[in-house]
Amino acid sequence: MANQEETFDAVIVGAGFAGLYMLHRLRNLGLSAVVFEQGDNVGGTWYWNRYPGARCDAESLAYSFSFSEQLEQDWAWSERYATQPEILAYAEHVADRFDLRRDIRFDCRVESAVFDEVANRWQVSSERGDRISAQFCIMATGCLSVPQRPDIAGLDDFAGDLHQASLWPHEGVDFTNKRVGVIGTGSSAIQAIPVIAEQAGNLTVFQRTPNFSVPAVNGVLDPQWVAQFKANYRAHRANHKQGLGQGFGDLEIEPKEQGPVAMAGAELTDAQLQAVLESYWQTGGARFMGAVGDAIVSEETNRAFADFVHAKIRATVNDPAVAEVLCPQNHPIGSKRICVDSDYYKTYNRANVQLVDVAASPIQKITATGVQVDGDVHELDVLVLATGFDAMTGALLRMDIRGVAGVTLADKWAAGPVSYLGLTVAGFPNLFTITGPGSPSVLSNMLVSIEQHVDWLADCIAHMQSQQLARIEAADTAQSQWVAHVNEIANATLFPKGGSWYLGANVAGKPRVFMPYAGGVGAYREFCDAVAQDDYRGFEFA
Ligand code: NAP
Repeated sequence: MANQEETFDAVIVGAGFAGLYMLHRLRNLGLSAVVFEQGDNVGGTWYWNRYPGARCDAESLAYSFSFSEQLEQDWAWSERYATQPEILAYAEHVADRFDLRRDIRFDCRVESAVFDEVANRWQVSSERGDRISAQFCIMATGCLSVPQRPDIAGLDDFAGDLHQASLWPHEGVDFTNKRVGVIGTGSSAIQAIPVIAEQAGNLTVFQRTPNFSVPAVNGVLDPQWVAQFKANYRAHRANHKQGLGQGFGDLEIEPKEQGPVAMAGAELTDAQLQAVLESYWQTGGARFMGAVGDAIVSEETNRAFADFVHAKIRATVNDPAVAEVLCPQNHPIGSKRICVDSDYYKTYNRANVQLVDVAASPIQKITATGVQVDGDVHELDVLVLATGFDAMTGALLRMDIRGVAGVTLADKWAAGPVSYLGLTVAGFPNLFTITGPGSPSVLSNMLVSIEQHVDWLADCIAHMQSQQLARIEAADTAQSQWVAHVNEIANATLFPKGGSWYLGANVAGKPRVFMPYAGGVGAYREFCDAVAQDDYRGFEFA
């Protein structure tokens, strides 16, 4: 029997960082809100992705909330790149510190959200029978939250232990003396492989497409350095939010204007370019791609970056044939999300690690005992799938979302996602997508983008409350112009050449549209602020 309908000002879907902060902001505005979360705890991506070696690839002191100075001063990050357990502990701390759990319903997946045009309210239903009426429906469902299981014949026949990196068992997996296989060589696998190799009896990596990876140069943070950094926290935060790049943070005590050393690789001599790249390589981290301003724009600069990394791979991996298989040749560096690793390439020098090139010879099937390639079965006790996600739109389209005239979001997005600012969709009034397609989202430090969206939304909702407005909706023309702008920026870069999940290319039948906004978090924030200041230009209110 269906439950009785409950009434709230807002429903928030997801209790990751976006959902937590949204709840906090709405409460402070005096609104009633309820959060639905399919897991049994907060943390979102950091709740699910517990594979060995899982850690963030943004600097810890940047990948954290800035809204509470007390919180940022009190919380002590232990490493330059925080581990999954530490980030999950932080999410739990935030939930407890701001007393958020009492408005979160765990183990509760939202099934549908239907807009009632007469009442200007969303009717939201959960799988377990909750029925909510709310003026606002806020999707804080994450960009990488729907695991992509590969379509490989025989997967269910495997008699050993089968694990998906993004649905890792809470009790962990013991690889001791086991024959382990990993399918996939994206960010998740590149973090997991060195750790699994240390423990496993034998590890076989099945690689279809090699990825570029740069060293993390991770390490324990020096408390004295942290204290100095935190003394300048406001200026650092301003840099992350308004800088030229994507807000990933840096290691400078004195915040400096974040920007590339040279706008174009062509401005440098070859020796200068090599020196710059070497310096970024030694410092470590994804900011390698920002060593020169046009790395993701100029084919020539990009090739120089790729050649540099190829040389590093060849210098690190002892077996030249293995090194060649590890050198990505089919996409510009950075056009697929750059990976950040600890000892990834070195791992292939271990006697207990083999690389199988399944681009040359695709996986034929999974058998009860292993993975069959080219007629040979690689015998395994444990098989790990690190095969990625139905990114950015997956979580939204799994729900039955219906807007004006009963149009479904799935129909609206049949040819790829369209949005205004990556925050709203025309025809879906009072519905918001935090870090949705069309916003910097996955190209940026997610915490920076989450805070920016939540703050913008909270201000917008406060504006509606003060003006007693019942409904906000993106105008079609504003949406079309925004989509054109997002495409124009993407098409001026090498991103669309990557064949990556940014484009939906990893999911069969998914439309190929470059989904994130590639213009940087600073420019994006400026645009959103200008929209608000200009009386919410591009929106229609009722
Ligand atoms: P991913 O980058 O999409 O990688 C999936 C891998 O699985 C690819 O190597 C893919 O090969 C392979 N694969 C998929 N289906 C296959 C099949 N049928 N046969 C053989 N190989 C197959 O996924 P991910 O590693 O989970 O990373 C996704 C994103 O999550 C990252 O790009 C990053 O944004 C985020 N992430 C971040 C961190 C971090 O903060 N450090 C860590 C993990 C993930 P193809 O390329 O040939 O399709």
